[in-house]
Amino acid sequence: MMPHRGIGMTSQRTRERLVQRLEEQGIRHPGVLDAIRHTPRHLFVDEALASRAYEDTALPISYGQTISQPYIVARMTEALLEGAPEKILEIGTGSGYQAAILARLAAEVYTVERIEALKKQARKRFAELKLRNIHVKQDDGGLGWPEHAPYDAIIVTAASVEVPAALIAQLATGGRMLVPVGAPGAQDLLLVTRTPQGYERRALERVSFVPLLSGVA
Ligand code: SAH
Repeated sequence: MMPHRGIGMTSQRTRERLVQRLEEQGIRHPGVLDAIRHTPRHLFVDEALASRAYEDTALPISYGQTISQPYIVARMTEALLEGAPEKILEIGTGSGYQAAILARLAAEVYTVERIEALKKQARKRFAELKLRNIHVKQDDGGLGWPEHAPYDAIIVTAASVEVPAALIAQLATGGRMLVPVGAPGAQDLLLVTRTPQGYERRALERVSFVPLLSGVA
């Protein structure tokens, strides 16, 4: 098997192929495509899966969680960027890959993970990749991260049964939130826009995320 960090050229070529595939699937934002081109996804998965890191598929990470499919990461990032956010909150750090993509496109990224070991591992990856504008903490992300609110954009990368009220409260007026809402197995990816009166919601597509759980682990 190829060494984890030594996949060098192979990884660059396969990453470029992934970018091409995403373009074919309708991802247009040059910044998003560039962020995917320059982010080593193989460093965000277990060594045994590194050779599959540039397939357009979700992969298992530890603790029964998954790193999202690159198309979904690209699609969600593109939808968030329409609001030109400076400060973004992510719920569900997982491997840290989505946060690493966002960190190339916004000034500050705050990300909350309920599983301590995943938080630690992600923090280490951010340090290694010198992504200094990502702030991670372990907590129940359903509560958001009120100390740094309001956020221009919020991205929830775990499935919720309803739009989390605490998160709407931490969204700036005009800000956008992406959140998968629905039953385990399949959800609607909702684009929620905060208005002066409340919020508006629109379903973008069907997705399948692991559940948003309460409490920390
Ligand atoms: N964005 C991740 C993929 C997330 S998988 C990536 O790029 O790899 C969903 C993650 O949400 C899991 O790591 C899970 O532990 C976490 N999670 C689930 N419920 C949570 C909650 N209430 N608060 C914070 N994180 C949560």
